[in-house]
Amino acid sequence: MRDAASDGLEHPRFALSLITLYTSIVISTAHLRFCTERGRLLDLLTTAVSDYAKVADELAGQMSILSPLAYRRKRLEVEGARIDAQNARDALFTHRKEHGC
Ligand SMILES: [Zn+2]
Repeated sequence: MRDAASDGLEHPRFALSLITLYTSIVISTAHLRFCTERGRLLDLLTTAVSDYAKVADELAGQMSILSPLAYRRKRLEVEGARIDAQNARDALFTHRKEHGC
């Protein structure tokens, strides 16, 4: 049976929980000071995390029924969404560090 661990794939739900944790920390401090750029980056991060959650959930739900080709495509989609979410998170963290907001 195909599963995330034997496939060397980080479990989508676990990866998602990490990103969600980062996001919750950022959002919890978002009200402290107003910064337009931080707001924009936070919106991007929220969207990217939501997209990642969607495709990761789809992969987790379809893992055992997808054809090998469809599975590879879905994995690439999940990996791309994960990288997008990480980049969005990094951009926000970098901005906050540089701008002090
Ligand atoms: Zn700022």
